[in-house]
Amino acid sequence: QITVGVLALQGGVIEHISLLQKAAAQLSSQSSTPTPQFSFIQVRTAAQLSQCDALIIPGGESTTMAIVARRLGLLDPLREFVKVQHKPTWGTCAGLVMLASAASATKQGGQELIGGLDVKVLRNRYGTQLQSFVGDLRLPFLEEGRQPFRGVFIRAPVVEEIITTPTAGDDDEVTKLKTGNQVEVMGTYPKPEGTGEGDDIVAVRQGNVFGTSFHPELTDDVRIHTWWLKQVVEGLKSGGRDVQAQS
Ligand code: GLN
Repeated sequence: QITVGVLALQGGVIEHISLLQKAAAQLSSQSSTPTPQFSFIQVRTAAQLSQCDALIIPGGESTTMAIVARRLGLLDPLREFVKVQHKPTWGTCAGLVMLASAASATKQGGQELIGGLDVKVLRNRYGTQLQSFVGDLRLPFLEEGRQPFRGVFIRAPVVEEIITTPTAGDDDEVTKLKTGNQVEVMGTYPKPEGTGEGDDIVAVRQGNVFGTSFHPELTDDVRIHTWWLKQVVEGLKSGGRDVQAQS
Protein backbone atom coordinates (compact mmCIF):
# COMPACT_ATOMS: atom_id res chain seq x y z
CA GLN A 1 0.00 0.00 0.00
CA ILE A 2 1.21 3.49 -0.89
CA THR A 3 0.20 6.39 1.33
CA VAL A 4 -0.05 9.77 -0.34
CA GLY A 5 -0.63 12.80 1.87
CA VAL A 6 -2.07 16.19 1.09
CA LEU A 7 -0.80 18.93 3.39
CA ALA A 8 -4.00 20.15 5.00
CA LEU A 9 -3.13 23.36 6.81
CA GLN A 10 -4.94 25.61 4.39
CA GLY A 11 -6.05 25.70 0.76
CA GLY A 12 -7.40 23.23 -1.81
CA VAL A 13 -7.07 19.92 0.04
CA ILE A 14 -10.31 18.05 -0.73
CA GLU A 15 -10.03 18.84 -4.43
CA HIS A 16 -6.63 17.15 -4.61
CA ILE A 17 -7.82 14.10 -2.70
CA SER A 18 -10.80 13.71 -4.99
CA LEU A 19 -8.64 13.89 -8.14
CA LEU A 20 -6.08 11.52 -6.62
CA GLN A 21 -8.86 8.97 -6.07
CA LYS A 22 -9.94 9.29 -9.70
CA ALA A 23 -6.30 9.07 -10.84
CA ALA A 24 -5.72 5.90 -8.84
CA ALA A 25 -8.81 4.32 -10.39
CA GLN A 26 -7.58 5.30 -13.82
CA LEU A 27 -4.10 3.94 -13.22
CA SER A 28 -5.44 0.57 -12.25
CA SER A 29 -7.82 0.47 -15.22
CA GLN A 30 -4.98 1.39 -17.63
CA SER A 31 -2.52 -1.13 -16.33
CA SER A 32 -2.48 -4.76 -17.38
CA THR A 33 -0.54 -5.73 -14.24
CA PRO A 34 -1.89 -5.21 -10.72
CA THR A 35 -1.25 -1.68 -9.42
CA PRO A 36 -0.57 -0.92 -5.77
CA GLN A 37 -3.36 0.08 -3.43
CA PHE A 38 -3.30 3.73 -2.47
CA SER A 39 -4.43 5.47 0.64
CA PHE A 40 -4.88 9.24 0.58
CA ILE A 41 -4.64 11.14 3.84
CA GLN A 42 -4.79 14.72 5.08
CA VAL A 43 -1.57 15.77 6.79
CA ARG A 44 -1.63 18.14 9.76
CA THR A 45 0.97 16.58 12.05
CA ALA A 46 4.52 15.27 11.83
CA ALA A 47 3.21 11.80 12.75
CA GLN A 48 0.85 11.83 9.75
CA LEU A 49 3.66 13.08 7.50
CA SER A 50 5.86 10.21 8.59
CA GLN A 51 3.25 7.74 7.28
CA CYS A 52 3.44 9.24 3.79
CA ASP A 53 5.35 7.88 0.82
CA ALA A 54 4.58 11.02 -1.19
CA LEU A 55 3.00 14.41 -0.58
CA ILE A 56 1.03 17.14 -2.33
CA ILE A 57 1.26 20.71 -1.09
CA PRO A 58 -1.88 22.43 -2.35
CA GLY A 59 -2.64 25.96 -3.46
CA GLY A 60 -3.68 28.55 -0.95
CA GLU A 61 -1.49 31.24 0.52
CA SER A 62 2.15 30.41 1.03
CA THR A 63 2.94 32.91 3.82
CA THR A 64 -0.04 31.68 5.86
CA MET A 65 0.84 28.06 5.15
CA ALA A 66 4.42 28.62 6.34
CA ILE A 67 3.29 30.36 9.54
CA VAL A 68 0.86 27.55 10.37
CA ALA A 69 3.45 24.87 9.52
CA ARG A 70 5.98 26.59 11.79
CA ARG A 71 3.46 26.76 14.67
CA LEU A 72 2.58 23.09 14.32
CA GLY A 73 6.25 22.09 14.24
CA LEU A 74 5.85 20.81 10.69
CA LEU A 75 8.27 23.00 8.77
CA ASP A 76 11.43 21.09 9.61
CA PRO A 77 9.80 17.65 9.15
CA LEU A 78 8.62 18.88 5.73
CA ARG A 79 12.16 19.97 4.82
CA GLU A 80 13.44 16.58 5.92
CA PHE A 81 10.74 14.78 3.89
CA VAL A 82 11.60 16.67 0.69
CA LYS A 83 15.34 17.28 0.91
CA VAL A 84 16.74 14.51 3.09
CA GLN A 85 14.37 11.59 2.51
CA HIS A 86 13.84 12.73 -1.11
CA LYS A 87 10.22 11.60 -1.11
CA PRO A 88 8.08 12.53 -4.12
CA THR A 89 6.47 15.91 -3.46
CA TRP A 90 4.29 18.01 -5.73
CA GLY A 91 3.37 21.62 -5.03
CA THR A 92 0.56 23.44 -6.84
CA CYS A 93 0.60 27.25 -6.86
CA ALA A 94 1.28 28.24 -3.21
CA GLY A 95 2.76 24.72 -2.93
CA LEU A 96 5.23 25.58 -5.71
CA VAL A 97 6.20 28.72 -3.76
CA MET A 98 6.80 26.60 -0.64
CA LEU A 99 9.04 24.20 -2.59
CA ALA A 100 11.18 26.94 -4.15
CA SER A 101 14.49 27.85 -2.57
CA ALA A 102 13.73 31.57 -2.98
CA ALA A 103 10.66 33.71 -3.58
CA SER A 104 10.26 37.31 -4.54
CA ALA A 105 7.00 39.04 -3.90
CA THR A 106 5.35 42.24 -4.86
CA LYS A 107 5.22 43.18 -1.18
CA GLN A 108 8.21 43.51 1.12
CA GLY A 109 8.98 40.86 3.67
CA GLY A 110 10.53 37.45 3.72
CA GLN A 111 8.74 34.18 4.23
CA GLU A 112 9.86 30.74 5.27
CA LEU A 113 10.07 28.11 2.57
CA ILE A 114 10.61 24.36 2.44
CA GLY A 115 12.88 24.41 -0.61
CA GLY A 116 13.83 21.44 -2.76
CA LEU A 117 13.63 23.15 -6.12
CA ASP A 118 16.66 25.27 -7.04
CA VAL A 119 14.48 28.04 -8.39
CA LYS A 120 13.40 31.52 -7.52
CA VAL A 121 9.69 32.13 -7.95
CA LEU A 122 7.90 35.38 -8.57
CA ARG A 123 4.71 35.38 -6.54
CA ASN A 124 1.42 36.74 -7.88
CA ARG A 125 2.93 37.10 -11.33
CA TYR A 126 -0.41 37.54 -13.09
CA GLY A 127 -1.92 40.02 -10.62
CA THR A 128 -4.78 39.77 -8.19
CA GLN A 129 -7.58 37.25 -7.66
CA LEU A 130 -9.74 39.20 -10.10
CA GLN A 131 -7.16 38.67 -12.82
CA SER A 132 -7.40 34.89 -12.50
CA PHE A 133 -7.67 33.10 -15.83
CA VAL A 134 -7.76 29.75 -17.54
CA GLY A 135 -5.15 29.14 -20.22
CA ASP A 136 -4.54 26.21 -22.56
CA LEU A 137 -1.22 24.53 -21.84
CA ARG A 138 0.74 22.11 -23.95
CA LEU A 139 2.50 19.88 -21.49
CA PRO A 140 5.00 17.66 -23.32
CA PHE A 141 5.14 15.12 -20.49
CA LEU A 142 1.49 14.27 -21.02
CA GLU A 143 0.89 12.11 -24.06
CA GLU A 144 1.12 14.05 -27.29
CA GLY A 145 -1.71 14.64 -29.68
CA ARG A 146 -4.25 15.02 -26.92
CA GLN A 147 -6.27 17.94 -25.65
CA PRO A 148 -4.34 20.89 -24.24
CA PHE A 149 -4.46 21.06 -20.47
CA ARG A 150 -6.76 23.76 -19.07
CA GLY A 151 -4.48 25.58 -16.63
CA VAL A 152 -6.30 27.46 -13.87
CA PHE A 153 -4.13 30.39 -12.71
CA ILE A 154 -5.15 32.12 -9.46
CA ARG A 155 -2.66 34.66 -8.10
CA ALA A 156 -0.18 32.25 -9.58
CA PRO A 157 3.58 32.29 -9.19
CA VAL A 158 6.00 31.57 -12.02
CA VAL A 159 9.60 30.38 -11.96
CA GLU A 160 11.59 33.48 -12.77
CA GLU A 161 15.04 32.02 -12.30
CA ILE A 162 16.66 28.62 -12.22
CA ILE A 163 19.43 28.91 -9.68
CA THR A 164 22.55 27.30 -11.07
CA THR A 165 25.12 28.61 -8.63
CA PRO A 166 23.70 28.49 -5.11
CA THR A 167 25.86 30.08 -2.46
CA ALA A 168 28.33 27.94 -0.54
CA GLY A 169 26.79 26.11 2.38
CA ASP A 170 23.34 26.11 0.83
CA ASP A 171 21.90 22.73 1.73
CA ASP A 172 19.90 22.61 -1.50
CA GLU A 173 23.21 22.59 -3.34
CA VAL A 174 24.34 19.65 -1.25
CA THR A 175 21.12 17.85 -2.17
CA LYS A 176 21.72 18.53 -5.83
CA LEU A 177 25.31 17.32 -5.71
CA LYS A 178 24.21 14.19 -3.97
CA THR A 179 21.44 13.32 -6.38
CA GLY A 180 22.87 15.04 -9.47
CA ASN A 181 19.43 16.33 -10.28
CA GLN A 182 18.97 19.44 -12.34
CA VAL A 183 15.84 21.52 -12.67
CA GLU A 184 13.81 20.43 -15.70
CA VAL A 185 11.31 22.79 -17.29
CA MET A 186 8.11 20.77 -17.71
CA GLY A 187 5.69 23.43 -18.92
CA THR A 188 5.56 26.99 -20.17
CA TYR A 189 2.91 29.58 -20.95
CA PRO A 190 3.29 32.62 -23.27
CA LYS A 191 3.90 35.82 -21.33
CA PRO A 192 0.81 38.02 -21.35
CA GLU A 193 1.04 41.01 -23.68
CA GLY A 194 3.10 43.88 -22.37
CA THR A 195 4.93 41.75 -19.81
CA GLY A 196 7.96 40.74 -21.84
CA GLU A 197 8.95 38.36 -24.59
CA GLY A 198 8.79 34.60 -24.68
CA ASP A 199 7.29 32.18 -22.22
CA ASP A 200 6.84 31.94 -18.47
CA ILE A 201 7.95 28.74 -16.77
CA VAL A 202 4.85 27.24 -15.12
CA ALA A 203 5.92 23.65 -14.35
CA VAL A 204 9.29 22.29 -13.17
CA ARG A 205 10.74 19.12 -11.77
CA GLN A 206 13.98 18.44 -9.95
CA GLY A 207 14.42 14.82 -8.95
CA ASN A 208 11.67 13.96 -6.48
CA VAL A 209 10.18 17.47 -6.46
CA PHE A 210 7.55 18.68 -8.93
CA GLY A 211 5.85 22.07 -9.02
CA THR A 212 3.09 23.68 -11.06
CA SER A 213 1.96 27.32 -11.05
CA PHE A 214 -1.59 26.36 -11.88
CA HIS A 215 -4.29 24.23 -10.22
CA PRO A 216 -5.03 20.89 -11.94
CA GLU A 217 -7.19 20.00 -8.92
CA LEU A 218 -9.68 22.69 -9.87
CA THR A 219 -10.45 20.95 -13.15
CA ASP A 220 -11.83 17.49 -13.77
CA ASP A 221 -8.81 16.66 -15.92
CA VAL A 222 -7.09 13.86 -14.12
CA ARG A 223 -4.05 13.52 -16.44
CA ILE A 224 -1.42 15.26 -14.32
CA HIS A 225 -2.51 13.47 -11.14
CA THR A 226 -2.38 10.14 -12.99
CA TRP A 227 1.06 10.94 -14.43
CA TRP A 228 2.36 11.98 -11.01
CA LEU A 229 1.00 8.90 -9.22
CA LYS A 230 2.71 6.77 -11.84
CA GLN A 231 6.00 8.59 -11.13
CA VAL A 232 5.47 7.94 -7.42
CA VAL A 233 4.96 4.22 -8.00
CA GLU A 234 7.95 3.94 -10.32
CA GLY A 235 10.16 6.01 -8.01
CA LEU A 236 9.31 3.80 -5.06
CA LYS A 237 10.06 0.69 -7.10
CA SER A 238 13.42 1.94 -8.35
CA GLY A 239 14.29 3.48 -4.98
CA GLY A 240 14.60 -0.06 -3.65
CA ARG A 241 11.47 0.32 -1.57
CA ASP A 242 9.54 -2.86 -1.36
CA VAL A 243 6.19 -1.80 -2.68
CA GLN A 244 4.11 -4.90 -3.09
CA ALA A 245 1.60 -4.81 -5.89
CA GLN A 246 -1.80 -5.82 -4.64
CA SER A 247 -4.78 -6.54 -6.76
N1 GLN B 1 -0.38 33.93 -4.43
C1 GLN B 1 -0.38 32.84 -3.53
C2 GLN B 1 0.96 32.72 -2.81
O1 GLN B 1 1.86 33.41 -3.12
C3 GLN B 1 -0.66 31.53 -4.26
C4 GLN B 1 -2.06 31.52 -4.79
C5 GLN B 1 -2.64 30.15 -5.00
O2 GLN B 1 -2.16 29.15 -4.47
N2 GLN B 1 -3.71 30.09 -5.74
O3 GLN B 1 1.09 31.94 -1.95
